[in-house]
Amino acid sequence: MANILVTGGAGYIGSHACKALAKAGHVPIAYDNLVTGWEEAVRFGPFERGDLHSGDRLDEVFAKWQPEAVMHFAALSNVGEASREPGLYWRNNVGGSMGLLDAMAKAGCRRIVFSSTCATYGDRDGVVLDEQAGFAPLNAYGASKAAVEAMLADYGRAYDIAHVSFRYFNVAGADVDGEIGEAHDPETHLIPLALQAATGRRGALTLFGTDYPTPDGTCIRDYVHVEDLVAAHILGLDHLARGGVETAFNLGTGRGFSVREVVSAVARVTGLQVPMIEGARREGDAVALVSGSTLAGEVLGWQAERSTLDAMIGSAFAWHQKGTVYKA
Ligand code: UDP
Repeated sequence: MANILVTGGAGYIGSHACKALAKAGHVPIAYDNLVTGWEEAVRFGPFERGDLHSGDRLDEVFAKWQPEAVMHFAALSNVGEASREPGLYWRNNVGGSMGLLDAMAKAGCRRIVFSSTCATYGDRDGVVLDEQAGFAPLNAYGASKAAVEAMLADYGRAYDIAHVSFRYFNVAGADVDGEIGEAHDPETHLIPLALQAATGRRGALTLFGTDYPTPDGTCIRDYVHVEDLVAAHILGLDHLARGGVETAFNLGTGRGFSVREVVSAVARVTGLQVPMIEGARREGDAVALVSGSTLAGEVLGWQAERSTLDAMIGSAFAWHQKGTVYKA
């Protein structure tokens, strides 16, 4: 049992990580500025409101809880916004991570699990997207995460901070108990948007581009269940504790689905029609992002056990149907 500081602990993935940590017997301390997170999602341990740009606040929280490790989720993660306002992403994601690492170095906290992304890879037709693929991000979101991975290597060497980065493919689904789920304001992610369109909570879903060089003209993504994803983070803590040498792992299933396939699955699982219109491409979107790695399985023993479209859509739908709306 250990104290683990979870930045972004009030967000979608961070709150699921807090629950998984609590279930594993740890104390997750959620650190969040509530810009995109929800205080109601902090249910599994203490909450410390704070910003990564505030060194004093971070110092205070490290002194109070003496965390053994950090799970770092706090970041902006909207590809469209990142293309329009790159400065937001460099300031928040890169600057914020630097503030966190400075505070860790000062406090002597020596382990960090970092939330990275497959958006670091960019569009790489014909290239297998494994951990050796190298970075070629198409937008400031991917670029900001690649920069933080480089920062982790530098800080790791200088201050003896063991680090591991998980490069997420598309995270979806909700807690199996329905306690927490995905809520963004504004919502920009495909599955929650399709559910909202199907249930009449918003108008038609816009397909962002139907002329891509894919079988049905829409982009292909590799979807992974949030519960599988956070399970990998718990394994990541063990990996750091035993001095594992690998510093980056893809988290995806290796199976891609087009936007149209996802929307059809939403209709099938919910039994509802998903009204949709064909729209223009969204800037910053890669044609296809599918993991080409099994390293997390080989090294960490990780398996994507729940990451079927049906399980992801079904759990997200169950949570949406509860009518849970977080209030800021
Ligand atoms: N997408 C779409 N309409 C929407 C939202 C998303 O067609 O209203 C597409 C988007 O272009 C991408 C896929 O769905 O190809 C997944 O997008 P999302 O924003 O969920 O995740 P991302 O891949 O950007 O991390």
